[in-house]
Amino acid sequence: MSDLVSIFLQLLLFKLVAPVTFRHHRYDDLVRTLYKVHNECPHVTRVYSIGRSVKGRHLYVLEFSDYPGIHEPLEPEVKYVGNMHGNEVLGRELLLQLSEFLCEEFRNRNQRIVQLVEGTRIHILPSMNPDGYEVAAAAQDRDISGYLVGRNNANGVDLNRNFPDLNTYIYYNEKNGGPNHHLPLPDNWKNQVEPETQAVIQWIRSFNFVLSANLHGGAVVANYPYDKSLEHRVRGFRRTANTPTPDDTLFQKLAKVYSYAHGWMHQGWNCGDYFSDGITNGASWYSLSKGMQDFNYLHTNCFEITLELSCDKFPRQEELQREWLSNREALIQFLEQVHQGIKGMVRDENYNNLADAVISVSGINHDVTSGDHGDYFRLLLPGTYTVTATAPRFDPETVSVTVGPGEPKLVNFQLKRSTPPAAPKRRGPNSGHRGRVLPKKVQPRAARKKEMMVKQSQRVPA
Ligand SMILES: [Zn+2]
Repeated sequence: MSDLVSIFLQLLLFKLVAPVTFRHHRYDDLVRTLYKVHNECPHVTRVYSIGRSVKGRHLYVLEFSDYPGIHEPLEPEVKYVGNMHGNEVLGRELLLQLSEFLCEEFRNRNQRIVQLVEGTRIHILPSMNPDGYEVAAAAQDRDISGYLVGRNNANGVDLNRNFPDLNTYIYYNEKNGGPNHHLPLPDNWKNQVEPETQAVIQWIRSFNFVLSANLHGGAVVANYPYDKSLEHRVRGFRRTANTPTPDDTLFQKLAKVYSYAHGWMHQGWNCGDYFSDGITNGASWYSLSKGMQDFNYLHTNCFEITLELSCDKFPRQEELQREWLSNREALIQFLEQVHQGIKGMVRDENYNNLADAVISVSGINHDVTSGDHGDYFRLLLPGTYTVTATAPRFDPETVSVTVGPGEPKLVNFQLKRSTPPAAPKRRGPNSGHRGRVLPKKVQPRAARKKEMMVKQSQRVPA
């Protein structure tokens, strides 16, 4: 009898301290796991859906915050997106592990995690392409996995070639003047994208995301924008020219934070490819049009990088624990990167919050805007900057600010209404606003044709 009791107690104990299980999660299992984490940490999590896949599967997000469901002014929003290519599955599993880890460590009062969850609103979308995943997983079970089986969504579309192409506009504007941020969507964009892409676009438009990573597989490297190389007037050549954003040094640092905190990404030689420091400009690796990374930067305030995490797109279950241990610190450190640069409130003289005010940093031709609550976040490396806040019908305000390596510096703006009659409007090169009319027909027919030819000759990408 006492043996039975002892076995029972041991089983109970095992259940209580059961380690996180390392297995591949099919869709139902994934949903159960998200709700399990929510049930274990109900006060700091929320599960919500951003829409459905072609086959009707929900695209579930798990949110971590001390006030789930609420944006707290000056608390930045961060996101992770996994499994956009259905057959690249490591990111999906890592994000489930991360969810369980954040919950457990929060409950254990791990000070680093408590501080992260209380000071950051974290959104985790483990699978952007649940339909593709099911196809890939079924093929694995039957041992007939091709390199591309399950990559696309159920309509056969590659979701990372499915976002509106805003690069063509920005490259034109960089040369000829015009908005340098928040480029508008084409009028009929909803008809041009897949349901999963539409859900993600609506999602990233409805939160003021500051930082993001998109998790892929097939290589091991941290890839930063731009992904699409600047068009050259050379016919018949694949363009793989380094195409930096105005925030290039910052993006390189963000990518390096991940690669150096990762077990071996920073070593450079992986999967038969070499990337110095384990990072690469997307376009200098291979040019990619209509990707999610460039879209985030050009249409929203969000700085996104793309993480290629494993040579094998569908690693064996036995490798998941090792992968988790080599990515865990990197996943946490990357989230912490959202706390740098400057942030603050933009208000009028009566302390009303001003949404959509434009924050410009001299020398960096990419502005950000304040969110619905009047708060803004501008990631910056340490240094001294001249920062200007502008809003329609208000006088601009300019300050000089020195940013250190630690916590972001708080820089609030209180704008005064312009005195009527308004002086003739002047705009510097950095003062683009939403809704300004874009030049039409910036991509001639020949360039488009060329782009299609290039696409066909590309290697199978990660
Ligand atoms: Zn991929």
